[in-house]
Amino acid sequence: MLGGVLCSLLDLLLPQTCVGCGASGPRCCARCLAELAAAPRPRPPECPPAGLPVCWSAADYAGAARRVVVAYKERGESALAAALADVLAYTVTRAVAAAPRPGDGGRRRLVLVPVPSAVRSLRTRGHDPVGRLARLAARRLNAYGECRAEVWPALAHRRRVADQAGLSRTERRGNLTGSLWVPNPGESPSAANVLLVDDIVTTGATLAEAARALRRSGAVASAAVTVAATRRRSSKPLRSRTVKMHPSL
Ligand SMILES: [Zn+2]
Repeated sequence: MLGGVLCSLLDLLLPQTCVGCGASGPRCCARCLAELAAAPRPRPPECPPAGLPVCWSAADYAGAARRVVVAYKERGESALAAALADVLAYTVTRAVAAAPRPGDGGRRRLVLVPVPSAVRSLRTRGHDPVGRLARLAARRLNAYGECRAEVWPALAHRRRVADQAGLSRTERRGNLTGSLWVPNPGESPSAANVLLVDDIVTTGATLAEAARALRRSGAVASAAVTVAATRRRSSKPLRSRTVKMHPSL
């Protein structure tokens, strides 16, 4: 919490530069924001775990995207939340448009379910980065007028898990299985398109566990949406292409 306050104070006192590229101006300049939101598409992890919904991400977790996400998440740079929420909301619109559901008509009803931070991460960071992004993204989606979006903070940790960093894919899955649950399944939204939301997808183990916990409560996530996806070593460079930006970006 103190780190975030200090960052906010420093933001006011020091000349601003973009976290992504170093240019003078806002902490996420228009160029970096456009880069982050240029190519939302399914970016599934290599060897996706069973039960992982189709996983959409705005960008690879590299370059400006990585720097902006790290600054927001680990250094508590709250000034970046708005830009990342724009990117997340835009990616949600693309994911939903790509997979229309039967009965979708008029304004779709979307329910965003954020992946919860571990208790110790909340304590260390002093903020809930994904929950905040989900709430801001829902506001953006409602402002677009194409859907009614709400946040359902359904998931909670049932037990402590080891730090995922340094664990193999199999170890991550074992570490996480059964770690999440839905304490209040009665609040499960009906007739809504449920989407899981996270900041980064790496192996997909966390999102697969979140989807499992939701299914157990009777809710089915139609997709998962993240700001960034850890780049697969085997992935080819993205082809350059022009993408129509959402008017709000
Ligand atoms: Zn920039």
